[in-house]
Amino acid sequence: MKKKLIQLKELFEKEIKDCNTQEELKKIEDKFLWKNWELKEILKWLKDLSSEEKKEIWQESNNLKVNIEETLKNKEQELKNSQFKDIENKEKIDVTLEFSSENTWHYHPISITSKLLEEIFISLGFKIEDGPQIEKVEYNFDKLNIPADHPARDVWDTFWISDEINKDLEDKEKLLLRTHTSPVQIRTMLKWELPIKTIVPGRVFRYEQEDARHTCNFYQLEWLVVGKWVTFWDLKWTLDTVMKKLLWDDTTLRFRPYIFPFTEPSAEVDVSCQICKGKGWSCGMCSWTWWVELLWAWMVHPKVLSDCGIDPEEYTWFAFGMWIDRIASQRFGISSSRMMYQSKLKLNEQF
Ligand SMILES: [Zn+2]
Repeated sequence: MKKKLIQLKELFEKEIKDCNTQEELKKIEDKFLWKNWELKEILKWLKDLSSEEKKEIWQESNNLKVNIEETLKNKEQELKNSQFKDIENKEKIDVTLEFSSENTWHYHPISITSKLLEEIFISLGFKIEDGPQIEKVEYNFDKLNIPADHPARDVWDTFWISDEINKDLEDKEKLLLRTHTSPVQIRTMLKWELPIKTIVPGRVFRYEQEDARHTCNFYQLEWLVVGKWVTFWDLKWTLDTVMKKLLWDDTTLRFRPYIFPFTEPSAEVDVSCQICKGKGWSCGMCSWTWWVELLWAWMVHPKVLSDCGIDPEEYTWFAFGMWIDRIASQRFGISSSRMMYQSKLKLNEQF
């Protein structure tokens, strides 16, 4: 029986040595592990042996089985590694190769508008801040004075990160795709470098029904000023200057008092539509009203400041936000924001 076990071991070793594919390995596994009649035969004869021999043969058969299992596992890994190596060799790219970069790329209209806005704001003395697109509930909602039971949370249809990741996290630590760039305001205020005069351009995400003005991911730019003696007039002047520089000198702004459930006072700001210029034809961008809602402005709630360690009695502050996509549409005369996310070369190559 011992001899048979040794023969079996040698046969297995020979076959595994000659094995080159996963299919062959599967056949060997079936043969030596699951349908191994020879080993089963040996075990069948165990009962006729003396207890001493029985123990010995049982031990050796078991060792052989463990050895077969381990060898199969190692061989499987070895085959996988060589498979990856093959792919690596086949798909090798030489990044140092030279190629012609002429006419192969264009700036996207959103990038152009974002860059222009950044340049205008920098010329007015603003700094640029950036933050993560995957954000914590604490920064996206709680610290902006929008607690879990606040109706304002219903305003945004939020994309949440997988339950698998969120299930073990505390409520305020749960992760989502940021619904606005405002969390970066919190991150900036927590640095306590006062006064603050900053803009935050960036990508945000909402589960929206798409139309000419709405897409489920879009670009915002927010403005935050925290300082002494900051007034609504400063905000109005800044917006008027930026819009005239970015669009046209005859651009008109219309401020409408507006109620956001989490700020007071607040305003929505419309810009005269540059697509139809009020000519009276059907315009999806302004819905034939001549006014396009491009910006919103608000006074930050005192609690938001005090939660960030800033004294609301000593400092005043305003913020506003704008849709870069809609502004890009206005600047370049693109009749629908959706077109900017459809990777249409016919559109992009014009810029
Ligand atoms: Zn219009």
